[in-house]
Amino acid sequence: MSDYILVLDEGTTSTRAMLFDGTGAFHGAAQEELTQHYPQAGWVEHDASEIWDKTLACAREMIAKAGGADKIACIGITNQRETVVAWDKNSGEPLARAIVWQDRRTEPFCVDLRAAGHEKDVQARTGLLLDPYFSGTKMRWLLDNDENVRAAAEKGTLAFGTIESWLTFKLTGGEHVSDASNASRTLLLELAGAQFDAGLCDLLGVPHAALPQVVDMSGALGETSADLFGRAIPITGMVGDQQAATVGQACLAPGETKATYGTGAFVLTNQGATIPTSKNRLLGTVLTQIGGERTYAIEGSVFVAGSLVQWLRDSLGIVDVASQTEELARSIPDTGGVTIVPALAGLGAPHWRAEARGLISGLSFASGKAELARAALEAMAHQTHDLATAFAADGTGWETLRIDGGMTANNWMAQDLADILNLTVERPEFVETTALGAAMLAAAGAGIHPNLDTAAQAMRGKLHSFEPAMDEDVREERLTRWKKALAAA
Ligand code: ADP
Repeated sequence: MSDYILVLDEGTTSTRAMLFDGTGAFHGAAQEELTQHYPQAGWVEHDASEIWDKTLACAREMIAKAGGADKIACIGITNQRETVVAWDKNSGEPLARAIVWQDRRTEPFCVDLRAAGHEKDVQARTGLLLDPYFSGTKMRWLLDNDENVRAAAEKGTLAFGTIESWLTFKLTGGEHVSDASNASRTLLLELAGAQFDAGLCDLLGVPHAALPQVVDMSGALGETSADLFGRAIPITGMVGDQQAATVGQACLAPGETKATYGTGAFVLTNQGATIPTSKNRLLGTVLTQIGGERTYAIEGSVFVAGSLVQWLRDSLGIVDVASQTEELARSIPDTGGVTIVPALAGLGAPHWRAEARGLISGLSFASGKAELARAALEAMAHQTHDLATAFAADGTGWETLRIDGGMTANNWMAQDLADILNLTVERPEFVETTALGAAMLAAAGAGIHPNLDTAAQAMRGKLHSFEPAMDEDVREERLTRWKKALAAA
């Protein structure tokens, strides 16, 4: 009997395998940390072999815990988006280190493309901006700078893919596919186009032949090689992490909005079947594709969220563990004017200033660990407020905000978000909504539920609400202080 849905959640800092059942109940996880390689300032790389080895090890551990492959009904895959892997189709081995979404090395190429006047057209077609964040310019960089990648392109054996594509290739023993949500983050897929676009490939200098086939996000998407787990297990869900969290939060009707606070912060609002257009430098992206039918989302991405807390921990030594920021923030009534602009990797939406760098303003001799920790958490609400303003200007105001991600375990931060946004903020009791969303897509794809809506209703958990309670003048003071610091960054 097949009881479980196995989710492979391949994040930026770790990879996990998690077991769910058809009611959405969680039955445990195996997790392995991933090595982060920082060869130069602004560069971030992963070892794709390490990602595969650790994903496989975690999957095997959880399949054994479930009682064997016969107990696994289906697999759902969710992943860090935009990260590019180049591998050889024949050997199945990576040709270079994977270039991670945070990597800024392709900024000069983006500057050239923008200077040549391409951004408006690219934005209208792909929903994206010409920023190093997206996969396409990273692929071009590998072709220009890595001999192995170039040689494989010349031989016709080069495969490019994002992480779900890489994992599916390895799991199935050679299927080269990418789901529409991940594909929509490459700059190479038109929001209205079924497959990667030849004109966009030419513009970026990426060979079309090296790209995967774009497929649905739920349904019979592939089967694992029988020798991996002892039986061929169907892969029935594939989804980029932010789209997964949006589904996991059951934001399946137009206007429903979620914000995930992990390494970075990502806000998505469901736009239904309407292709999004933004006048405020927000992104348009594929939310779901099932049976060839798409829904879309408007998205604002902030590059630095939990990674700021990690920096406080690892580089400054202000806390031993991330959760200590909560007690530090609560130990003082305010930051005494200290403001952090977390532009440690440039500024994302809605500012899109790759060259901006971080700033701590308002320091005095009274500033200590608590002030810095509180200012770091306050920065999350400040950045989210900027997004809320941009979404509202695009005609997509939020009525409530559903939050998730590792950082939202922090109750102080969740309340501060409600206060600064002046909105009800809802947090599910089960905060792993990314994995849950992948489980919902996989469950619908395997026929455990008739469709995604019924899967989401059946599998979604209970919510905890945070209501705004801040005095208006305090709120105004906070936002004014933030605006000043931002202008200086
Ligand atoms: P990702 O999926 O991007 O790897 P997670 O969703 O696992 O990230 O969230 C981890 C991030 O959240 C880390 O950067 C960590 O610093 C931060 N974090 C985790 N717990 C807390 C907490 N209680 N308070 C503040 N930040 C936290």
